[in-house]
Amino acid sequence: MDSIGVIGAGQMGAGIAQVAAQAGYKVFLSDVSVEIAEKGKAGIAKILGKQVEKGKLAQADADAAVARIEAIGDLAPMSAAGLVIEAATEREDIKRIIFQNVGKVLGPDAVLASNTSSISITRLAQASVDPTRFIGMHFFNPVPLMPLMEVIRGLATSDATVAVAEAFAKKVGKETVIAQDSPCFVVNRILLPLLNEAFFAVGEGVGSIVDIDKGVKLGLGHPMGPLTLADMIGLDTILLILRVLQEDFGDPKYRPAPLLVKYVEAGWLGRKTGRGFYDYSGPEPVPTR
Ligand code: NAD
Repeated sequence: MDSIGVIGAGQMGAGIAQVAAQAGYKVFLSDVSVEIAEKGKAGIAKILGKQVEKGKLAQADADAAVARIEAIGDLAPMSAAGLVIEAATEREDIKRIIFQNVGKVLGPDAVLASNTSSISITRLAQASVDPTRFIGMHFFNPVPLMPLMEVIRGLATSDATVAVAEAFAKKVGKETVIAQDSPCFVVNRILLPLLNEAFFAVGEGVGSIVDIDKGVKLGLGHPMGPLTLADMIGLDTILLILRVLQEDFGDPKYRPAPLLVKYVEAGWLGRKTGRGFYDYSGPEPVPTR
């Protein structure tokens, strides 16, 4: 397989496109418009440029990786891709439409994957052209740095499809774990309740934003506190994932913390909007409460 498609050029799609291009794949990158796909590509070029400045990457390798990424406005070129990975907004209605559209151009042996954090792969597969060639490939943020990819098998996913996903992970340097098709799979099933509890704790005044982050970081040995991590993931994405957990399990223990809902309603989505539990407009993040 020489080329792949990535649908959604936000933080995850751009990260997946970057690691794939650096591993030698030709990458077709799309979003809601070619302009947004181009913006995703420009972000990748900027990240690689910084690595060149730090002496971590040769200019020629950075240039070659960027040249392998083609921002597209129409999905037709993805007919050449052996694997198409969807990394669009965590909404089932959006993903379903994407699968229907890409299904019109997908090659007869090509695999279609979703980077969804929480939505049932078996259910999403129903919107794909062939559920045997549909799979969950769940990367972690930031993709170039995090060494894991979860592989999620839907009920109909074939062994050949799993092999394509595993081979791609290996080529881009990721370890894999296999997760059952259960809401949030393995890692987010454990992470999301932790983040949500941190939001409740802030809302109830159990600790300040800074102390909750410091406490978890130093007391549990985590590389960063839950509120810093939440800002990095995106508070809107977290809210959507918690709602999937709550709805799919039918268990109120997953109800989103009211403070999280308020932050999302205010458009305070974390780093991507410059403000979440911290304000990122200055040289150092400043807590917002
Ligand atoms: P993001 O908001 O940074 O990017 C989402 C992108 O999808 C945007 O650029 C948006 O314009 C695009 N999009 C929306 N509708 C589209 C459509 N119809 N066609 C093409 N593109 C469309 O979000 P993200 O953090 O990159 O998350 C994307 C996916 O990755 C979600 O399914 C999310 O659950 C999953 N994910 C996120 C993380 C994380 O830490 N943020 C980690 C693992 C998986």
